[in-house]
Amino acid sequence: MAVIEVAGLRKAYRGRGVLDGVDFQVAEGEIFGLLGSNGAGKTTTVECCEGLRRADGGTVRVLGLDPVRQAHRLRARIGVQLQQAQLQDALRVGEALELYASFYPRAHDVADLAARWGLGELRRTPFGKLSGGQKQRLFIALALVGRPEVAFLDELTTGLDPAARRETWQLIRQVRDSGVTVVLVSHFMDEVEALCDRAAVLDRGRIVAAGTPQELIARAGVAGTLSFRPTAPLELALLAGLPGVATVTERAGRIEVTGTGGYADEVTRLLAGRGLVVTGLRIHERSLDDAFVALTGRDHLN
Ligand code: ADP
Repeated sequence: MAVIEVAGLRKAYRGRGVLDGVDFQVAEGEIFGLLGSNGAGKTTTVECCEGLRRADGGTVRVLGLDPVRQAHRLRARIGVQLQQAQLQDALRVGEALELYASFYPRAHDVADLAARWGLGELRRTPFGKLSGGQKQRLFIALALVGRPEVAFLDELTTGLDPAARRETWQLIRQVRDSGVTVVLVSHFMDEVEALCDRAAVLDRGRIVAAGTPQELIARAGVAGTLSFRPTAPLELALLAGLPGVATVTERAGRIEVTGTGGYADEVTRLLAGRGLVVTGLRIHERSLDDAFVALTGRDHLN
């Protein structure tokens, strides 16, 4: 069942089109990533789903509700990650959680939630005294305190160190496994690849591709690279004729093969079939990062 349905969504700011017919669906109980470079329209799209912005055209349904006309009913069933500026420095962690819990009819127990997100010891600490990572965890906990059916998380792990990012991903998987649908706005490809069940790539106000991270990589047709040194002569034409192989080059005794699909398996099968031992084997796996560049024609950092 689709928990979010967006069709033909259009939005302009002062006559300048930002969303130009955005279409996507989010299924119940999945972690869905909305990917795009800065300015692509991710926040605008999500704010239209949250009922914070009114679309100029198209339809948006979240849990079957119109986010603007049925805002009140929807608000009780979704959780939204705040932006930095939205909390007062003097507000203590425990107070913030209690305050947000009071907005919802079936909120989580604040002590339990604080403990789960590593905030148990910090309940008396003012927001302004928290580290970047602690603030981030508080924002996530606040988005979840009302037991939402859909949680919208924006730039989830900004400011977290690598270990804390992995820990956060694990907690978000648990949130998903408890039945919550998670929408993740991100420009971190590794995060989307590691965490999302499905993702959509937004570029210049349109969705240019949607699917599982693996499907996006396959659809982008980006080539992987395999290179090695053969210990006996090998005719390059044999490699070039294999299914999926795009290019074969040799430089200073090292052979480099690029290709898509099952090209790497084909190469290893050929080598094994000839009993050819290789050394210095290197494989560059295709990543979502490569796919993003191929799909949008731009570097995601720009
Ligand atoms: P993203 O989240 O992908 O970075 P946004 O949805 O925030 O993209 O912004 C898309 C475009 O709309 C950007 O060019 C941005 O400058 C512009 N924009 C966003 N909000 C407003 C606003 N309130 N008024 C005018 N322009 C805006």
